[in-house]
Parts: sequence; structure tokens; C-alpha cells
Amino acid sequence: MVLSSVLGFPRIGANREVKKAVEAYWGGKISADELTKVAAEVKKYNWTNIKAKGVDLIPSGEFSLYDHVLDHSASFNAIPKRYLGHGLSALDMYFAMGRGRQADGVDVPACEMKKWFDSNYHFVVPELSDETDFKLNFNKAVEEYNEAKALGIETRPVVLGPISYLVLGKPAREAKPGFQPISLLPKLLPVYKQLLTELKAAGATSVQIDEPILVLDQAAYLEKQYSSAYTELSQVAPKIILTTYFGRLDSNLQFAAKLPVAGLHIDLDRAPGQLDDTLAAVKPTPLILSLGVVSGRNIWKTDFQAAIKLGQKAIDTLGGDRVIIATSSSLLHTPVTLASENKLSAEQKDWFSFALEKASEVAVIASVLSGSQDAQVASLLEENKKSIGARRSFETNSNDAVRRRVSAVTPDMLNRKSPFAVRMEVQKKHLDLPKFPTTTIGSFPQTKEIRTARAKLNKGEISQAEYDKFIEKEIESVVRFQEKVGLDLLVHGEPERNDMVQYFGEQLEGFVFTQNGWVQSYGSRYVRPPIIVSDVSRPTPMTVRWSAYAQSVTKKPMKGMLTGPVTILNWSFPRADVSRELQAKQLALALRDEVVDLEKAGISAIQVDEPAIREGLPLRRSDWDAYLTWAVDSFRLATAGVSDALQTHSHFCYSDFGDIFPSIQRLDADVISIEASKSDMKLLQTFKEYGYSNEIGPGVYDIHSPRVPGEQEIKDRIAAMLEILPDHLLFINPDCGLKTRGWKETETSLANLVAAARWARQQY
Ligand code: GLN
Ligand code: ZN
Repeated sequence: MVLSSVLGFPRIGANREVKKAVEAYWGGKISADELTKVAAEVKKYNWTNIKAKGVDLIPSGEFSLYDHVLDHSASFNAIPKRYLGHGLSALDMYFAMGRGRQADGVDVPACEMKKWFDSNYHFVVPELSDETDFKLNFNKAVEEYNEAKALGIETRPVVLGPISYLVLGKPAREAKPGFQPISLLPKLLPVYKQLLTELKAAGATSVQIDEPILVLDQAAYLEKQYSSAYTELSQVAPKIILTTYFGRLDSNLQFAAKLPVAGLHIDLDRAPGQLDDTLAAVKPTPLILSLGVVSGRNIWKTDFQAAIKLGQKAIDTLGGDRVIIATSSSLLHTPVTLASENKLSAEQKDWFSFALEKASEVAVIASVLSGSQDAQVASLLEENKKSIGARRSFETNSNDAVRRRVSAVTPDMLNRKSPFAVRMEVQKKHLDLPKFPTTTIGSFPQTKEIRTARAKLNKGEISQAEYDKFIEKEIESVVRFQEKVGLDLLVHGEPERNDMVQYFGEQLEGFVFTQNGWVQSYGSRYVRPPIIVSDVSRPTPMTVRWSAYAQSVTKKPMKGMLTGPVTILNWSFPRADVSRELQAKQLALALRDEVVDLEKAGISAIQVDEPAIREGLPLRRSDWDAYLTWAVDSFRLATAGVSDALQTHSHFCYSDFGDIFPSIQRLDADVISIEASKSDMKLLQTFKEYGYSNEIGPGVYDIHSPRVPGEQEIKDRIAAMLEILPDHLLFINPDCGLKTRGWKETETSLANLVAAARWARQQY
């Protein structure tokens, strides 16, 4: 019998119940008990529905009110000192770690968040030191296992493994220099032993222990730790399914397959090529192999035939009793159910599977592989064949012209006409900017009025013409403000944009949007990524009208504002039938047309934001070059179609460039702006050492807080920057866009920025 399993499920609830309840609790509108009740209802919904789909191994313990890594820290007593001693309840302390707390005389910032591997989910980073006093404060795995059991549902609890937990952590402030979190393994193992012993006593027969760091290069150095940890744990635990996802095990397979566990899970969605090696390594062992054939990362229907083929191959080698059919990872990264979508056409709906539909998929595939003669299974198999066939024919009949255009891209199209040094001289005359030009990153405050106007337009309460008039008025007032405050290179303020990716997706051919496709980004913050469904093209100009309008009301130069191809791709659900590279190039060509049109409309500087280039880096270093090559090429393709006089800008919301400097240089943007106010000058030192040659605007103040930077403070920053960077390359700007800020602090902050720049012009 081939079993089916789901590795984890979205926590939000089909109608965003958990998000709403958590926020209501933060706002003091409901009690902790009421919050617990809502959470229990959603867990019940998840378990009963996964079970109803016929899944054998149902996950528990992975539900979270904020983040599952934070759940482990709270449970293991890995709580930084600054959260203690305020008399907070366990729940409030937990939320304080996740999001900070500023109330009733308590003022603590949140713990750091980091991206969960290469997904857009963020986890709360454990802070660890020799003083960390691990103990089991509560056993969430047992609690949720029992909670499900009380509903008559047998589950397989999920726990994040000790080695991944430690490696994902960072040294706490009080940690000694050189401290490495993994050194705490001997102290942490007793806690895991207790956790797993209790789980076994509660009746769990198997447990899913996640060790996703096994797909990273650095796990290669942890063989000894893996071997000792799992030798200890397997003595007390229920049957352990060691679970990896998001990538391939590569050489780590050799020791992973020898660990004394009951089974190993591999991701065949991200790394289908690892099946053969894994089968060979697992065959001589008693291990069960769990095959992640249903993607936990995208929203496409699984091709049953293809999945069955992989499953059959594994069965032929290991026998059906040693094979599990599973989702590739937790379904956390997909929306709850397609059933909530009423606006997608029937044809489109038939392409997708969200979390609940994916649960059904693993069950059906496992039934087929178990030799089921069930008529319903047969008809589902037949239906899937039809759906996949329809999707394939849609794909092949998609936009041929776009594909031909991509294959006709010549190396020339990636290059500006002249090298940067020549362009800089031409642009100097053309734009006539002063020394140390001041500019902003694009957006100005998205006020309540702007959001209300957009909502009214969407509800049909105002006409398109009325809305457009409103936007023009907004743009004009933002332009007047920038003139008044004395900025040099102006922007239109982006009032017309709901989101920097969605806005473009909605205007491009090849995207669809969901009504309820929420995916967790962090805590209670969820996003609804657009879905790329076919070849991407630009039917008509997207931003020209607004940029041209903005330019028409001022004599100062106006900077056009676009989101880059790699960022649009990374913040959408991509197609699964063609490479990311092809999709990025198609986006790049669409943007190239926009860039050319903006220049024709009289815009003399254009910023193409690429904040997601770095986060799209593959998990394995050996894959970086290939990615960076097409990512940078896509940016160049989007921006190189203009004359030397057009000044191209790009923007990044991070400053840790260390590893990718050559690629940043190769973008060949005339000006880049980066988030820098919180980093020390080491960053600019690296730019200097690397010999970065183009213009650069390191942010002079943090825009994530309402705090107004003083004039002197900005002067000091500029002075420090000029110790390192040559005068003629420096732009002066904030860290990032201002859309989340209020007008009041924006006005004073920018006035101080301009005053500091004027001072610098006198001094240097
Ligand atoms: N132009 C965008 C803005 O100013 C850039 C946002 C971003 O980098 N995330 O809002
Ligand atoms: Zn930014």
C-alpha cells in the first residue's frame, strides 16, 4: 500500500479567520481565549478537510499564530532577555518577539526576521548563546496531536529538526565572539528527546522532522552532528521521517541515507533529477522514501501521469510499502482553496490546484499507485488527463510572436550605445543636475484618500475619468511639493499603484489574479501574488501617461518608475512549463518597450526597481552564476534600448552585496540607490574596494520608522560617505520609497535632506 501525505498546511483559514483574529487580539478587541478558539476552528477545518480528501498522513503541530520557527523558540525557552521581566503572558511575550511591543511602559523591538530559504515567507530568527537555557516550556507537537485525536483524527506531527533550528539561528548579543549556534546541539538534544518521548507516549506512531538545511551547501560540514543527533533521537522517537525540501540533497544524500531514521523525504518538484541517486542510496537500507511530487510552492495542477511515473519507478526499486506520495514541501506557500475563486474563468480554474486540491492530488496518486480499482479514482485520473491536456495545448498555442521575439534577442540589445563614462558626460548636460543630486526612490505617502479613491473605483462608485482626475491632482501636488522643498530629480509619487508588482501584472498580457489567493509573508501579513499563465507582452504603454503628465507640470527633470523583470517574476507565481529565464526575458522585452516609450515622451531618467534580484539567488552556490547571468541580462535587456542621454537608475532594498558585486556592476545602471542608513560605512568601503564605477545613492535615512532624521545627522552621513566615495558619483536620497510614511515626517525629513545636500555642495 502506498500512503499519501501532506507536509503542512496554510494557517490563515479559508476566510482569513486567523489573520483577522490575531490582529483583533493585538488591537485588544478579543481575548486570548477567543483567539485560541478561532485557531482551533481553523485547525479543525484543515484536519477534517485534508482527511476528507483521503490523505493518510495528516500534519499537525505546524499550525502557527505567527511563525513556526518562533513557536520552537518559545517552546524551547530560547527567549532573549529583553522580553523577560515585563510581566507579559506567554502569548504576549511570543508576539513581542515576533513584532515588538510598545505599550504600557514596555518598549521592545522585534527579533530579526529572515527569508525562509528561497520563498517569500519570513521566519523569526532564533537568538542563541551559551547562556540559552533550553527547556521544554510546552510541547506544541503533543498538544496539537491530542487536539486532532480528540476530533477523531490521527495525525503525523511535524517538528523542525534540531540541526536546522540551530543553523537558522544567530548568535545573541551577549554571545562570545566566534560563537556558533550549532555548538549548542548537545544542550538542545535532551529537549528534543523529551519532546519526542512525550509524543510517542501520546500515541504518535511517526513524526515528520524537517531538516531543510540538508539542501544547502553548508550541511556538508554537519555529517557528524546529523549522525549523533539522529542516533540519539531515534531511540526514543516515533518513526522519524527526515524531511528535506526546496532543493536537492546532492552529496549530503550519502550521509542522510545512512541515518538511523525510518524514512527520508525528498523534493521532486524543485529537484526531480535527484530521484535516481536517491533510489540507489536508499535501496540497500530499510528506509521509506517519501516523494514530494505535488508542488508545495506553486499553484499548478499536478500532472498525474508524470507523478505516477516517478512513483512507479520508486515502487519498482523499493516496493510499494516503502514509498509515500507527498507534497514537495508544506503547502504553506499556496492559498487555501480554489473553491473561493469566483472570478477566474472555468478554463483558468481548471489549470490550478491550491492547498486543499493538492491534498486530494496526493491521495489520488497514491491510490492509483496502490492499484486502486475504484471508479472514482479512475474518473479523477481521466479528468486530470483532460485538464493537463487542455493546459498543454493552451501553452503551446500561447503567444508565438513573443517567443519569436525572445529568440531574436541579440547580444547587442543588452548593451547601451556607449560606456558609462561617455554616457555620464552626455547626461550631465542633458539633465543639468547639480553636484550631489537629490532624489527619492519613487513612492510618496499612500494616503487614506488615495486608498479610498481606488476602492471607490473598484466598487464602481466613481468613474474611471473621475479617478484619473484625482490621480492627476495627486501627482501635481507631489510635484509641487518636491519643487518647493528643492529636490533635483523629481518623481510622480506612484499614487496610481496598488502594489509595485500587481500594478504591472494587471496591465500586462499573460497574468491572472485571484480574489482569495493569500499567502503568508510574515506574521499576519499576507500577499496575493499574481499568476503568470502565458507568454507575457505589453498591449499598451503602462506608465507613460502618468510620467508624461508629471513632466508636463514641471520644468525639472522627471524620473520614470518601473518594476524590473526579475522582481515581477520573483513576486509572482511563475509558470511551470517554461524556465524562469524565459519568463524574465519576456517581461524584460515588455519593459523595454515601456522604457523606450517613456524616453519618447520626454522623460530623461528612468528607474527600474530590482529589490528581488538578490533574494532570487538559488540555494546552491553552484547555481548562482547561471541565475545571475540571466537575471542581469534581463535587466540590461529592459533598460538598454535608450539613447546615451537617458539616465537609467535601479534600486535595491538591501545592502548586503558582498557576494554579488560583479553582477551589480554588470547591471550597468547609470545610478543605483541602495538601503544604507542602517549599515555602517563598511558597505561603501566594499564598493570602493570592488572599484564600482557608476553613480550611487546610498540611503541617508531610514524610511521604515516615522522618526525624522536631523539635518546634522544627514550631513554627518554624507561626510562619512564622501570619505570613501568620489564626489562626482554620489546621489543623495532616502533608503527606499515613502509610501508607508505620513506626509508630516516626509516633509521635514526631505527638507533636512535637501539642506544637507546644499551644505555638501559648499563644502566639497
Ligand atoms: N519605487 C518603489 C517605491 O518607491 C520601490 C519600492 C521598493 O523598492 N520596494 O515604493
Ligand atoms: Zn526599496
